[in-house]
Amino acid sequence: MPDIVAHQKLIGLTAPSGAGKSSIAKQVLDAFPSMRLSVSVTTRSPRAYERHGKEYYFVSKPEFDRLITEDALLEYEEVYPGYYYGTPLSELTDHDSPLLLDIDVKGASHVRTSYGGFFIFISPPSIDTLEQRLLNRGTESTEMLQTRLKRAKIELSYANRFDAIVVNHSLDQAVKKTISLIKSYLKDA
Ligand code: 5GP
Repeated sequence: MPDIVAHQKLIGLTAPSGAGKSSIAKQVLDAFPSMRLSVSVTTRSPRAYERHGKEYYFVSKPEFDRLITEDALLEYEEVYPGYYYGTPLSELTDHDSPLLLDIDVKGASHVRTSYGGFFIFISPPSIDTLEQRLLNRGTESTEMLQTRLKRAKIELSYANRFDAIVVNHSLDQAVKKTISLIKSYLKDA
């Protein structure tokens, strides 16, 4: 295990696409001033509102491959066919501050098993709600929407592999529950 990982408190939020994970992550960061968000690298294209270095580091596949070859990633996954996402080791720098990972179920499961940390699965109330949220968000093409929904069914089967499940019936309630779980974890960690 890279030494730096042994010292950093890792908090993971994992969920199917459209479950509300990113909205929850934003409010969690506001609630814990010492916490930082780990910015991942991805080969997918930026959405209109996304900026390189803020939501993600947007890279080409050859650049992503170079990061793998150089052992620069803590973990990575091909989350959707042809689209890669990874956690750069360079995000793990400050031993004292907890690091928040927004990460898919496979990556989360891998990091939790290999390095530990506290991982919360954010669940949508149902697949129908998830579809509606993805449609309302309007960020995906019809094809990608179908890909994401198909994968969501598999992702839901991972729910019990983590430390806690938060069902996102309402954003406010889900945020409160997530913050309270993280507070308890950090108190004992
Ligand atoms: P999106 O394209 O909606 O931003 O993200 C798609 C999925 O990739 C989400 O489940 C998100 O949590 C996950 N993801 C984002 N960054 C990483 C990462 O560094 N590693 C892994 N394994 N998954 C990630």
